[in-house]
Amino acid sequence: ATPTAIMVGSGVGLNRGILFKSAAVLESIAHLQAIGFDKTGTLTKGAPEVTDIIPYASLNRKEVLTITAAGENPSIHPLAQAVVSQAKKENLQIQGVSNYREESGYGVVCTYEGKSLLIGNIKLMQKYDVDVQETEQDFQSLAEAGKTTSFIALDGRVIGLLALADVLKESTKEAIARLQKLGLKTFMITGDNKKVANVVGQEVGIDEIIAEILPQDKINIIKKYQAQGLKVAMVGDGINDAPALAQADIGIAIGSGTDVAKETGDIVLVRNDLLDVERAIRLGRKTLRKIK
Ligand code: ADP
Ligand code: MG
Repeated sequence: ATPTAIMVGSGVGLNRGILFKSAAVLESIAHLQAIGFDKTGTLTKGAPEVTDIIPYASLNRKEVLTITAAGENPSIHPLAQAVVSQAKKENLQIQGVSNYREESGYGVVCTYEGKSLLIGNIKLMQKYDVDVQETEQDFQSLAEAGKTTSFIALDGRVIGLLALADVLKESTKEAIARLQKLGLKTFMITGDNKKVANVVGQEVGIDEIIAEILPQDKINIIKKYQAQGLKVAMVGDGINDAPALAQADIGIAIGSGTDVAKETGDIVLVRNDLLDVERAIRLGRKTLRKIK
């Protein structure tokens, strides 16, 4: 039978917008030792904005944006949506593309006006043997500014860099500080570039920054912590995060996140407030004290 304390604890949680999917979670969260966060959409608002467009190969800024928006239009990735809204804001015509395919953790691949179009990170360029030497300096300074940068290549040649910046959620810094105060080790896992991740991670004050991780490899980071004997939670919002949420001792989904994340998570933060992670742990600890 479920002890009354757990029923009360779950009820209190629910009132505060913290949905515990099982009684066991309320107990196990009391013993948590490490907690990982996805970057985009979890620590940050996940609503990036286009900040810079640098054209190459004798194209202009508008042409680069037009082509990029065409390629990103079919994608639901937050970076893609930011590009499309920028193009709409500038009243650009968004054309259709064919042979569209998304490469998770890399970017998009398609055909635009009969030409092969690649939009994504440097790994995507390397995968398709695109020479990015010309962009090196621009890329470094954008990354140092903490901006996520997409490379755009047409028929194997770089035609532009497009940079996007995302801001932290209001409560991110405070939430991490409180978790550290409870004695937890905090870390961030992201598919984004290392430099960008370092800028964001340092701003947050998180203990460890793990970047350039492919979606399918996020799970291995969780396993690594578990192999050290730590009880680990993972907080995420995206489709990509579901396997890591499932692997973690406790998966925590952001309420505004994807259905997959919410179905996988053991806890759902209904109010989308990262401060609720710390509240959940304190509630768990309090509940446990009452049971004992
Ligand atoms: P995160 O771990 O930050 O949530 P993802 O795993 O979804 O990010 O993506 C990792 C990286 O892959 C992004 O930072 C970006 O460089 C690239 N990428 C993925 N999808 C796209 C896209 N549609 N357009 C451009 N770049 C993309
Ligand atoms: Mg995400």
